[in-house]
Amino acid sequence: MADIQTIPPRSGAGFTLDRGQTLTVIDPQGRQVSDLLAFNRSDMREAISSGRTLDYANRLYLTTGDMLYSNRSNVMLAIIADDVGRHDFLLTPCSKETFAIIYGDTDPHRGCFGNLVEALAPWGIEPDQIPVAFNCFMNVPIDGATGAFTVEPPLSKLGDSIVFRAEMDLVIGLTACSALQSNGGSFKPIQYRID
Ligand SMILES: [Zn+2]
Repeated sequence: MADIQTIPPRSGAGFTLDRGQTLTVIDPQGRQVSDLLAFNRSDMREAISSGRTLDYANRLYLTTGDMLYSNRSNVMLAIIADDVGRHDFLLTPCSKETFAIIYGDTDPHRGCFGNLVEALAPWGIEPDQIPVAFNCFMNVPIDGATGAFTVEPPLSKLGDSIVFRAEMDLVIGLTACSALQSNGGSFKPIQYRID
């Protein structure tokens, strides 16, 4: 079995994933969100797309059996196992501005956005290329009548995981999310494993 890598609280990682490999994202302590981005390694202008994916899924909550599509409508990742069944694909990575606008922080952390920018910089990704991430374990219940939503603590428990299979050669950005509200009020690590 491959080594388990740890992403410390409020940080991120960038790495490659070959077609056919699986990526297991683990919540080691429970109630911790992890933002996931994917780019086509041979043309980084092709990126994971919330809009395309939700359009084809006809559903906001994705789980085992669902595919994550790119902006060019190619399948990038397939979800092949999921302990939790509640993730978010609507909201953008938390950022400096998020913390200033929503939390009123005067010296805001750079958030998942800044962590993803740094993690993906070695592959030439610019900040403006960061799309909506697939937010593993993020719990955003939605009122079906009004569309109103809230950000609630994740439903993930200690050791829960979600497993993705790469359907093309990818560059992945992955974080341990930095937003208090998304993570039940505390910052915890995220782990991952490539097989
Ligand atoms: Zn975040």
